[in-house]
Amino acid sequence: MSEGYPFLPLNRDGLVDRVANSLVGAILSGAMRPGDRLAESHIARQMDLSRAPVREALRLLESSGLVEYRTNRGFFVRAISATSVSDLYDLRILIETAAIRRLTDTNPDALPVLRAQVAELHRLAGTGADMMAHVDADMAFHRLICEGSGNQRFLQVFDQIANETKLGLMLIGRLYDDPHRMAETHEPIVEAIAAGDADAAAAAIDYHIRVAKDMVTDHILNQQEAAE
Ligand SMILES: [Zn+2]
Repeated sequence: MSEGYPFLPLNRDGLVDRVANSLVGAILSGAMRPGDRLAESHIARQMDLSRAPVREALRLLESSGLVEYRTNRGFFVRAISATSVSDLYDLRILIETAAIRRLTDTNPDALPVLRAQVAELHRLAGTGADMMAHVDADMAFHRLICEGSGNQRFLQVFDQIANETKLGLMLIGRLYDDPHRMAETHEPIVEAIAAGDADAAAAAIDYHIRVAKDMVTDHILNQQEAAE
């Protein structure tokens, strides 16, 4: 009776997401390095699963930019180049400056939530939490800006590039020696929104993302030079 219906069992959908999350965790934590092969059969065996959900999860990560498929060779953790990171940050600058302008002009109610998120960044900085927690809290701040803009398309693009962005942030996180300093860099953004100054808010987030872009691209270029 079930034949002909286009549905998959729901628990299997959840399974692919869990496999994908587990792979993202391994890549972002550095347990799997850029250029490492992600052999479906090995992963499936370790996770005690069939290969199908593993392959589906790898396809998901391919679309998020963390994994690449090489013909006849399978899936690999994607190597991040200075150019691809620079392009990614340019896209973020475009989306987030547009989002913050709309938010500042149309949605002052977003302010308390943004202030609370900066407070959360400072709170985390005092706890000695791991880098992933800082990165998640930073991403939550930037996602709130896209969400608060009221433009769903900004939010969709932000979510699509979230994993790749996190990978860059994991690199910067290691470059910032003081997590309080990382939290502080969000304060001028929030103050500009509070002042209702859309130009200043756009300039503040442009500066914030551009500093991160320069740190990550310099870091990648230095690593490449060291390897040569
Ligand atoms: Zn930030």
